[in-house]
Amino acid sequence: MEIIDGKTLATDIRGNLKLEVQELKYKGIIPNLAVILVGEDKPSQIYVKNKSKACLEIGIKYEEFLLDRNIKMEQLLSLIDTLNEREDIHGILLQSPMPKHLNSDEAFERISPKKDVDGFNPVNVGKLCLKQDGFVSCTPAGIMKMFEKYNISLEGKNAVVLGRSNIVGKPMSLCLLNKDSTVTICHSKTQNLSEITKNADIIVVALGKPKFLTKDMIKEGAVVIDVGINRIENGIIGDVDFESVKEIASYITPVPGGVGPMTIAMLMQNVVKAAKNTLENSKQTCTILAK
Ligand code: NDP
Repeated sequence: MEIIDGKTLATDIRGNLKLEVQELKYKGIIPNLAVILVGEDKPSQIYVKNKSKACLEIGIKYEEFLLDRNIKMEQLLSLIDTLNEREDIHGILLQSPMPKHLNSDEAFERISPKKDVDGFNPVNVGKLCLKQDGFVSCTPAGIMKMFEKYNISLEGKNAVVLGRSNIVGKPMSLCLLNKDSTVTICHSKTQNLSEITKNADIIVVALGKPKFLTKDMIKEGAVVIDVGINRIENGIIGDVDFESVKEIASYITPVPGGVGPMTIAMLMQNVVKAAKNTLENSKQTCTILAK
């Protein structure tokens, strides 16, 4: 059994991104991420803080927009419009969950697909579905990077994704499908879940249910990816019963130190990609004008 070390992998990726950012700076572009946080949700504040730290370390500029929890939808949309227009902002991130009175689907849809570094805009979701280049949701993108780095082959494998959320489960399933896995998606209405997981070569667990996946639910040699973040008194635990599952899994991700750091690294990668895209676009515009 091998533990997939997301923390080290993410550190390497961030190191490479730092060099790319330096190169971009020579070319006159400083990647800039705008983060919108509505209200005072504690976990969201922690996520936003971690993202700002990562930006700082890599040399990405970071602008935070802290909005009152009672803000009106029109005000939120108007801020998004302003950020869409600003040429010095390359990525826009709207931290979820948002207060219930706000329509998060509408807000994500309003973010320009070119600045949608979280990959939540329907245009980018559609591109993933059609296997076209776009921004891929950071958690699934980070997991795909782990498979690549650990040479875990996906082609023809039975992959089971537990959870069908728009931000993890669904895009994860599409990423696996795009790499030729045979994918099954499970959710709260799925029957005989254990029968499905026992057939899986690869299992991605994204439920938000502490220690949900146990040893008796998987087959020997399965690759187990734990996306879950469940807060307990002295830290966080995942959706996988790590101690028992690691006895028979071939690869497993820990919590903390697995998927979490990779999610942030992929966000940074997407911001750098967005900045590079603007550089490419401005080159193309110059060429057209010169002709
Ligand atoms: P959601 O709550 O949006 O989705 C949970 C999914 O789990 C739903 O599809 C739900 O089914 C399904 N589900 C719930 N209970 C069961 C059950 N008993 N059996 C089968 N399926 C079930 O969560 P997210 O996808 O946003 O997040 C999942 C977890 O991953 C959370 O712990 C979250 O904190 C964590 N997370 C971690 C990240 C990281 O970077 N490590 C990033 C994002 C999330 P249904 O659709 O039917 O309701």
